[in-house]
Amino acid sequence: MERQHSLSRRSCWLITDIVADGVEIGIHGYVHNDYRILSKDKQFTQTKQAISVFQNNKIPYQGFRNPYLGWTQESLAIYAALGLSYESNMAILHDVVDLNAFSPLLRSGYAKSLRLFQAAPCSIYGLRPRFEGALLRIPTSIPDDEMLFDRLRITDQQEVGHIWSKVMQRVYDRGGLYTLNFHPERGVLCKPALEELLSYARSRPLPVWVARIGDVAQWWKEHSEFRQNITPLDSNRWQVEATCTPRATLLARHLIVEDQVATPWFGSDIRVQSHSFIVRAPQCPCIGISPATSQQVVNFLYEQGYPFVRCTQEEAHNYACYLDLPEGMGITAQEQLQRKSALVQQIEELEAPLLHFGCWPDGNRAALAISGDIDSVTVQDFFLRVLEVR
Ligand SMILES: [Zn+2]
Repeated sequence: MERQHSLSRRSCWLITDIVADGVEIGIHGYVHNDYRILSKDKQFTQTKQAISVFQNNKIPYQGFRNPYLGWTQESLAIYAALGLSYESNMAILHDVVDLNAFSPLLRSGYAKSLRLFQAAPCSIYGLRPRFEGALLRIPTSIPDDEMLFDRLRITDQQEVGHIWSKVMQRVYDRGGLYTLNFHPERGVLCKPALEELLSYARSRPLPVWVARIGDVAQWWKEHSEFRQNITPLDSNRWQVEATCTPRATLLARHLIVEDQVATPWFGSDIRVQSHSFIVRAPQCPCIGISPATSQQVVNFLYEQGYPFVRCTQEEAHNYACYLDLPEGMGITAQEQLQRKSALVQQIEELEAPLLHFGCWPDGNRAALAISGDIDSVTVQDFFLRVLEVR
């Protein structure tokens, strides 16, 4: 343990320099071990020790990413209890590599990484940050650099850049966040691939928000507090008042904005610049929810930026869609993920008058956060980290 402290001091000048350049430093553990094999007490102690290294060296921190993306339900509670605002461990798998082109040996190595990362398939909801209690969970997309370089032995930078751009394309189409994770020791090697990814992101018809994970976390909190108030003026006209910050992206589909400028955005959605406007639509442009629908669903709709009104089954036809979910979004994590993914998919595909808040600020269609796991600063650190976990 002492060794880690002196390591941190030795590396402190470097980290301070990086922070001064505008890079966010997250916490990656006290030693480089897998939390899944630690007791709850050990996880707590090590997280606390890692935080004190940051505090003692006056390095700002707000998030945690585990070695090997190895998180447990217990870790989440510990991060929240110790005041971290987010973690970034949920791996989302993008099927963008043709595995048939690789030998069975390389394929089995790739499959081993997938198991290690407990990856979930890609969906609109899966690519959005999400609150679990006070802690925000920020998804990270794979394949990461290790899977491509070490597992599949892809060395051609153009091919890596192409794979990352394909992930960006999928994320853009779904309006989500692409958290790319790579190891900074490959920074020079990966430069052409990163440049290709960035130029692909910049060439999209709508802007992609390139941000630090901490900025994404702060934005998501801001975004989850936005509200819309929709009041009828007559049978097919509605006054809309949005309570939000100036960065909000206000979207609408299948309706006419009467008194304000609206520009085409993505799919059926148009973007309204004003926060107060009148729309014309044959139905109330929000979701109807039954009186019995649970508070869990209400909180979920708020977080996702979808306005809703409580109404009875008889009034359901007056709304873009009607939800009657007294049992909420499920009990187990698996159940919740399935139901939430299905609900977001259903709402996003609605071809009915609907207002909602876009996921990202200032009209951005998607977000890109480039992050790296600093596992060691010197070659000596690299070998010492193996001893430290014992
Ligand atoms: Zn690591």
